[in-house]
Amino acid sequence: MRSNPAVLSSYSLHRILLRFRHTLSSQRPAGFIIPMATTEDSLRQALADKQSTIDASGNAIRQLKTSGASKSEIDDAVRALNALKLEKTSIENQLRASISGDANGSVVSRDAFRQAVVNTLERRLFFIPSFKIYRGVAGLYDYGPPGCAIKSNVLAFWRQHFVLEEDMLEVDCPCVTPEVVLKASGHVDKFTDLMVKDEKTGTCYRADHLLKDHCKDKLEKDLGISTEKAAELKHILAVLDDLSAEELGAKIKEYGITAPDTKNPLSDPYPFNLMFQTSIGPSGLSAGYMRPETAQGIFVNFKDLYYYNGNKLPFAAAQIGQAFRNEISPRQGLLRVREFTLAEIEHFVDPDDKSHPKYSEVANLKFLMFPRDEQMSGQSAKRLCLGDAVSRGIVNNQTLAYFIGRVYLFLTRLGIDEERLRFRQHLPNEMAHYAADCWDAEIESSYGWIECVGIADRSAYDLRAHTDKSGVALVAQEKFAEPKEVEKLVITPVKKELGLAFKGNQKMVVEALEAMNEKEAMDMKATLESKGEVEFEVCTLQKTVTIKKNMVSISKEKKKEHQRVFTPSVIEPSFGIGRIIYCLYEHSFYMRPSKAGDEQLNVFRFPPLVAPIKCTVFPLVQNQQYEEVAKHISRSLTAAGISNKKDITGTSIGKRYARTDELGVPFAVTVDSTSSVTIRERDSKDQIRVSVEEVAAVVKDVSEGRSTWTDILKKYPAHTSASADE
Ligand code: AMP
Repeated sequence: MRSNPAVLSSYSLHRILLRFRHTLSSQRPAGFIIPMATTEDSLRQALADKQSTIDASGNAIRQLKTSGASKSEIDDAVRALNALKLEKTSIENQLRASISGDANGSVVSRDAFRQAVVNTLERRLFFIPSFKIYRGVAGLYDYGPPGCAIKSNVLAFWRQHFVLEEDMLEVDCPCVTPEVVLKASGHVDKFTDLMVKDEKTGTCYRADHLLKDHCKDKLEKDLGISTEKAAELKHILAVLDDLSAEELGAKIKEYGITAPDTKNPLSDPYPFNLMFQTSIGPSGLSAGYMRPETAQGIFVNFKDLYYYNGNKLPFAAAQIGQAFRNEISPRQGLLRVREFTLAEIEHFVDPDDKSHPKYSEVANLKFLMFPRDEQMSGQSAKRLCLGDAVSRGIVNNQTLAYFIGRVYLFLTRLGIDEERLRFRQHLPNEMAHYAADCWDAEIESSYGWIECVGIADRSAYDLRAHTDKSGVALVAQEKFAEPKEVEKLVITPVKKELGLAFKGNQKMVVEALEAMNEKEAMDMKATLESKGEVEFEVCTLQKTVTIKKNMVSISKEKKKEHQRVFTPSVIEPSFGIGRIIYCLYEHSFYMRPSKAGDEQLNVFRFPPLVAPIKCTVFPLVQNQQYEEVAKHISRSLTAAGISNKKDITGTSIGKRYARTDELGVPFAVTVDSTSSVTIRERDSKDQIRVSVEEVAAVVKDVSEGRSTWTDILKKYPAHTSASADE
């Protein structure tokens, strides 16, 4: 998840900076993640030890030869050396497998698999590189007919699973967004990646990607590097997201990294804003951007949505729409693109009560979770019970856990393999400073583990940022049944004294004092009372100033209040729809031999829920009567709302099955009589015989999940004619 940028708003500037500085200083000295010894580390050590033994044996053989030792003595020593070399090869293979996370250590097979999937997708028009006849544009893709149908099925299920079942308020906001909104959210200043340029050709690269590739390449291909060097490279990979432009630049220089295509020297890294800029209206004076996420549209509408919801919390708003990010050098095919569909939920909740009424419905779910501690100690993801993860404090709160559970159900029902789905908690250094806890749903593909859904508790950050900038209070109220006496912290900076002492810096000192939390303020009060002055760090000034007793008054006052006014916290699940669909393609794809065994046929095992077409209808042979029956069945399927396609070409039935399997169509109806027909299930290739009038109802039931294919097999006679299959 790309963490949202820090907003330096006056309201929260000092608190944010204080917290941010604290986060950095409490982690950096420890070196962030120092992975504990892993299998990979011990294999590297074993490899280094084996190499020294081999070197020593080589030397011993040379000595034997110069000292005139007998032939048999030398032969024995050579045999021992060869055995050592074999052992070394075996360790190298294990190490390769451990690095790639693949039992066979086979990067080649993953690339070949991806190629097979992508070729099929492109040939069958699941996707088309956009503007192909003009040689395309990197990072832009069209959905072709089956791709469109799948996307619309995924989105329909998303609406069903989240918007309808969770009673969310759906909105649809413009993609073009005025600058002020994205200034408030922090995107204008901070939504950047660090870029380097080929100094001769001007080609741009993402600086962190080049460093990442260098470290990964060294780790994967240069097996002989020392364990210390390997630890250093792994450490860089772990802290990559935190490196400043200067740190990245220094590493790029130290490792001698050059432009991948030309080997030319690279510029120093500098920030590049990923938003596409535009202007609104003909004057060119009103700056705008294509939105990089849909969330801001929901935040700016909070006040109206809260009112629409009867001024009650919690509630969630949802939005599906296009997002635009001018990625520096899009790689990973369909996974990193410049325009993509996001489906986002903003669930607004009282920060003092993050329980969820439907939590018990997900608490018993068990799936792969990868908490922070496991990552930092070099372990792998574990199957955990969600409820246990909450009670052990691993997941911050029930509402966050509820959404993690719902996302798990959503993805697995779509057809994502649950063995290749894990929920990975953000490490402290990955998380935005204001976030309470974040988890990414990561799906394993041929590119490795890919973040497809980010689920973050973003606390009150976004609503506060827009409150500050717009001047409209985006808050909620809790009305008390009885007025309550509350104690309030009152910090009153004495501006006259502060002005005399700090002159032009007075405003920043005042803001820093006002932003203190209760503990900080009460500590200051105690020190001022005992010592008369206190050292106080003002982050915006980047220095410590001395505050004297006459410069600020700090007290707690009792007040009667009739309501509590607060900024809600927001829990945000954010779904990259294109990434989910691509991973689904990979998880659904397999090959099987044709009946004759002379070729490999491609199949997508999409569940009926997402399959682009639910059913194909074929007359077994070209014949007027059968074609009429096929048309009748197709019409009744359409009337029942089941997408279907007739194939009346004269090709063999085997070829027609192969064509529909390659599109992932789960059911095929073959008309071989005018009274009854066969229905074939794609993966088992089982066939049943059903009367013409029943076909639509049977296919509808099994496509919409009211019955399973196993139920259907029990109910209808099997069709075993060899002629019907390939
Ligand atoms: P983020 O706001 O960066 O956390 O992104 C939210 C979700 O959008 C991620 O979980 C991804 O699934 C998806 N996403 C982010 N960037 C891209 C991209 N360049 N191409 C496709 N999907 C993306």
